[in-house]
Amino acid sequence: MEEARPLVLIVDDNLTNSTFCEKLLTKNGYETSVCSSGEEALEFIGKNTPDLILLDIVMPGIDGYEFCDQLKRTPRLKDTPVIFLSAMNDETSIINGFKSGGVDFITRPFRGQELLARTRTHIELKRAKEKLLRMAVTDELTGLFNRRYFMSRLNQEFERVKRYESIFTFIMIDIDFFKKINDTHGHLAGDFVLRNVAEMMKKSLRLSDTVGRIGGEEFAILLPETEIGYGVEIAGRLRKKIEKSAIEFENKKMNVTISAGISDSDSGDLTVDAVLNRADVALYEAKDKGRNMVRAIRPEHRRNFEVPANSES
Ligand code: GH3
Ligand code: MG
Ligand code: MG
Repeated sequence: MEEARPLVLIVDDNLTNSTFCEKLLTKNGYETSVCSSGEEALEFIGKNTPDLILLDIVMPGIDGYEFCDQLKRTPRLKDTPVIFLSAMNDETSIINGFKSGGVDFITRPFRGQELLARTRTHIELKRAKEKLLRMAVTDELTGLFNRRYFMSRLNQEFERVKRYESIFTFIMIDIDFFKKINDTHGHLAGDFVLRNVAEMMKKSLRLSDTVGRIGGEEFAILLPETEIGYGVEIAGRLRKKIEKSAIEFENKKMNVTISAGISDSDSGDLTVDAVLNRADVALYEAKDKGRNMVRAIRPEHRRNFEVPANSES
């Protein structure tokens, strides 16, 4: 996939300076935008996400240091590399540039090729870091979150719920007789099924929900601020959808079903393992009672309610 032309924001109150940078960068394959004050630049980054910022220090109003400081406190933009570009070349000015969050400092007069080389390096580093971060949280086969990331989100949510006396629902899903799919149709067909099931899960969830592949053919869903009843509904709909869809791979139609175990958070739970454990027990029951089934276990009333395959809305 070809990457888009990187966007460099030039912030400088001196028009001669900014025009020189703008021409140099445009000629070398960059998109550019110019702002002539810190205020204007703050407005610009409110609506745009530049890949790198070339930043002057001395400007009327908000100066470069203050702008950089504010940028670094904005979650969406805090990793945007900032190169200070200034005639100030004393040690304190340079150190202050790094202290306010700059990654580099170029003093005027400067060499055009050096500015280009530093710009390229910092954009490459930022993109490499983003790619690594994405890879660290993603399951390669399905594109869902991986086990490690999912569990860290679950732990976070557990802590949040404890602090704010909120709720969440947790769903554990396991494909039924998946081994048979592999044995009958081959491992590639099995992988295809995993990707299909993952896609159906993604489509049935809200933006605030988190879904991960936490084992070979095991998936988990975290529904923040959600009552267990709604979790049962979601899992039931998903179960039906998967049961109805014949997954076709190399002209072979495969019928797949899932079982789900559901639990919710409870203020009495001392650890997240207790929540995981209830979902695990519920899932085991669903398997034991014949599969293609959703089961939920509530902590408060120690009341199991069974939702057999054919009784969901
Ligand atoms: P049950 O209904 O009790 O869940 O039976 P099952 O066959 O689904 O469960 P079991 O745990 O016996 O088998 C899971 C199988 O999933 C075994 C393993 O080879 C397969 N598997 C695990 N990871 C992958 C994968 O990434 N790709 C494929 N194709 N198969 C996988
Ligand atoms: Mg299974
Ligand atoms: Mg399994």
